[in-house]
Amino acid sequence: MTTEHFDVLIVGAGISGIGSAYHLQDQCPGKSYAVIEAMDTFGGTWVTHKYPGVRSDSDLYTFGYRFKPWVGAPIASGAEILKYLGDVIAENHIDRHIRYGTQIVACAWSSADNLWTVTTRRKTDACVQVLTCRFLWMCQGYYDHETPYVPDWAGLSDYQGQFVHAQLWDPATQVAGKRVLVIGSGATAATVVPALCDAGANVTMLQRSPTYFYCHPNQNELADRLRQIGIDEETVHRVVRAQIMFDQDVINRRCVEEPDAVFEELKALVRAYAGDDFQFEPHFTPRYRPWQQRLAFCPDGDLFRHAAAGHVRVITDTIERFTPQGVQTTGGEAIEADIVLACTGFRLSVMGDIPFSIDGTALAWHDTVNYRGMMFTGVPNLVWVMGYFRASWTLRVDMLGDFVCKLLKHMDTIGAKQVAVALRAEDQGMDLLPWIETDNFNPGYLVRGLDRMPRRGSKPEWRHNQDYWRERVEIPAIDLDGTEFRYDDRPAAQHALQAAE
Ligand SMILES: Cc1cc2nc3c(=O)[nH]c(=O)nc-3n(C[C@H](O)[C@H](O)[C@H](O)COP(=O)(O)OP(=O)(O)OC[C@H]3O[C@@H](n4cnc5c(N)ncnc54)[C@H](O)[C@@H]3O)c2cc1C
Repeated sequence: MTTEHFDVLIVGAGISGIGSAYHLQDQCPGKSYAVIEAMDTFGGTWVTHKYPGVRSDSDLYTFGYRFKPWVGAPIASGAEILKYLGDVIAENHIDRHIRYGTQIVACAWSSADNLWTVTTRRKTDACVQVLTCRFLWMCQGYYDHETPYVPDWAGLSDYQGQFVHAQLWDPATQVAGKRVLVIGSGATAATVVPALCDAGANVTMLQRSPTYFYCHPNQNELADRLRQIGIDEETVHRVVRAQIMFDQDVINRRCVEEPDAVFEELKALVRAYAGDDFQFEPHFTPRYRPWQQRLAFCPDGDLFRHAAAGHVRVITDTIERFTPQGVQTTGGEAIEADIVLACTGFRLSVMGDIPFSIDGTALAWHDTVNYRGMMFTGVPNLVWVMGYFRASWTLRVDMLGDFVCKLLKHMDTIGAKQVAVALRAEDQGMDLLPWIETDNFNPGYLVRGLDRMPRRGSKPEWRHNQDYWRERVEIPAIDLDGTEFRYDDRPAAQHALQAAE
């Protein structure tokens, strides 16, 4: 067993880990680092998911990094996203830093040494290696890539057809002429249903409750126009990102302030594809506010074109039980299916399900309080990149890339080996609450896993507020000498005094 040391270890080579590696080598070129990735390749989410039609839900002008222009149509296929990530890796020589097929199985912090000891296991031969680092940059995502969430349905084992969760879909599966029952109605279902129809399947979509959809052509008029008049791709990327973020900010606010008006506009967009007489009741009238959950994107209204043409049958009901032939609903429908495709979401994986310890004591993340959704009380030298759900995830990858690099440089400047966040005097007695406010945002995997997630405080600094438009002002302005930061276990001011003595 050998030990290697790095200044920084990045956990995961998904879109977060690759972006973080870019920022680290760009802004802190002197730091040694490695990216540790359990899979045999990069891309994370975009490698795991192979269901029909897999694509982004966000536009790639904002889901792409700020430093690498996106030059295609706004909504991209999984393959196009992987190509983009591959180009970023190759152009910046990030590949030589990535260790594939290597799972992190333990992370232990020692205050005596100011070091993380990271135990890894190579997948091919179970070889265990111990690495040490000063700083852990957690880019491991938020869900279990191997085991998806399947509700505990009665009679599932009686079903004699093919049952598969979207996360485990084998792209070699033949669907033409088959009766496919898609369970779910979120972004995944909105993607697979049109793709299955296009592939000649006979599709039924069974949803517990309706979802909001946003129909729009898969093109950006401003980008097309800027290109037409000869503007360079860097500028197109920057300007179109700004336009999209501005528009999203407006729509987010309107969803809160005037949800009914927004819904009427979403319906008008649907009618443009599905016809004026398209019926929204009962299958397309959600019970929650727009964007309380992600608004599902329909490029070119594909789902609604198929629904209006009668290619897909939609049923809004709950499952009573599975039968040998398919599903029996609570409302009395017997749905027969050759294939059941469950789009039922994820199993939350907190920090990659890695056992963490601090000075020999096992760390329970729920005992910590999060600082702006990225640092955690009592956990030194660690940042987690948890992106946005209402805006593109990657916006936060770039933003936290800047933050971590600024923090690392600050530590070097003041000669600190350790940084952690701690509740300030004025935070004592603050209410400690679950990670999310379920009234505001409530995806199933987070709600199911809240007791494993770090807690949130009632003050804005002690939560992941999911508000890019606020954070893009607040995060760059963070005062690293603020009293919430402790360096080598002392407040910044005291650290500076003692360092000067
Ligand atoms: C199908 C799908 C579509 C989505 N579309 C969008 C979208 O359009 N826009 C948007 O903003 N968001 C979208 N999301 C959310 C999406 O998950 C994120 O945007 C983003 O891809 C997450 O990237 P990540 O790198 O943080 O995590 P992941 O993609 O989950 O990658 C994490 C990586 O870390 C590795 N890892 C985890 N644990 C360990 C360990 N212990 N040791 C070593 N390696 C480890 C994993 O193998 C994985 O490769 C989508 C999610 C899904 C599932």
